[in-house]
Amino acid sequence: MAKAIICFGIFYFLLNPSFSQNSESIPHINTIDLESISPGTKNNYWLKISEDGLGQDINIPVVILKGANDGPVLAINAAIHGNELNGIPVIHHIINTVNPAEMSGTIIAIPITNVPAYQDNNRLFPDQTDLNRTMPGKANGNESQFYAYHLLEKLKGICDYVIDLHTASFGRVNSHYVRADLQDPILAKMAEIQNPQIILNGKTASTANADGTLRSALAANNIKCITIELGNPQVFQEDMKQAGIIGIQNTLAYLKILNIHVAAPKHPVVRCSKSYWIYTDAGGILEVLPDVNQSIEKGQKIAILYDSFGEVKQTYFAPENGIVIGKSSNPVSPAGARILHLGIFE
Ligand SMILES: [Zn+2]
Repeated sequence: MAKAIICFGIFYFLLNPSFSQNSESIPHINTIDLESISPGTKNNYWLKISEDGLGQDINIPVVILKGANDGPVLAINAAIHGNELNGIPVIHHIINTVNPAEMSGTIIAIPITNVPAYQDNNRLFPDQTDLNRTMPGKANGNESQFYAYHLLEKLKGICDYVIDLHTASFGRVNSHYVRADLQDPILAKMAEIQNPQIILNGKTASTANADGTLRSALAANNIKCITIELGNPQVFQEDMKQAGIIGIQNTLAYLKILNIHVAAPKHPVVRCSKSYWIYTDAGGILEVLPDVNQSIEKGQKIAILYDSFGEVKQTYFAPENGIVIGKSSNPVSPAGARILHLGIFE
């Protein structure tokens, strides 16, 4: 009997080459200690951030590629909003193709940042707050503040640069655009080399922490961060994945982590100095007319709101010239529903 079990075990092992690499064998860590990692290696970890209602650790997956030579530390994270998934295959591609032996510097890759929200298929943390409006969190705060605080603590003092990968929220679609503080020449360059459709000027460091975003909280800790929006929530989009990969590769070139060239953009980049959402002022069934990344002129018809019987109830027009950064994809529109995110040209 014992022999049979052993034989079965050997067969199981042989038939399942991933057996030896399952999650159980990946080290669990409480902090990121780059000094302890050998140069020129790739390392997977479960990094503890918090604990759940069973008292079990809530760990986030972290992949650290430590270059053979010294250089800057770049963190790349995705899914701080739990249903914003396009960044995950971008990160997976980078960690599976970049050779740490050829690197001068370190990549800290976090494919899933907001693990509880990701498991809920939800943008929001389980306490229904927005983790990316909760930064820098609080050591003795509520559930999401606690998570935010400990997430930030693990990155502070370690990273030089961070790329925060997002998508639109549920019920909306986005272009490929970058938010960055364009007053900072390094951040402006990092934004430009993403080769996005649109670059949107973000808040300056002087107002850091005001909006509770990871980007602002990192800025307050002298860590240079840009936010990249890659399309739509809860899906994988191949075009957005490829666009994201090119941007990260260009960043590795710009920071001289890899000895490669920055790829030239394949299309012109539209720069916006500011942006705002346009909302409905009545309820009904909404049809938004322009596509994302489409330029619109002042007075152009942008949306039609129908009543439940198919009659036109309201028509909406562009208040000024601009470009559609994102728009509603959900026709169910109570009064005050989002229509489109209008970028205003620099
Ligand atoms: Zn987001």
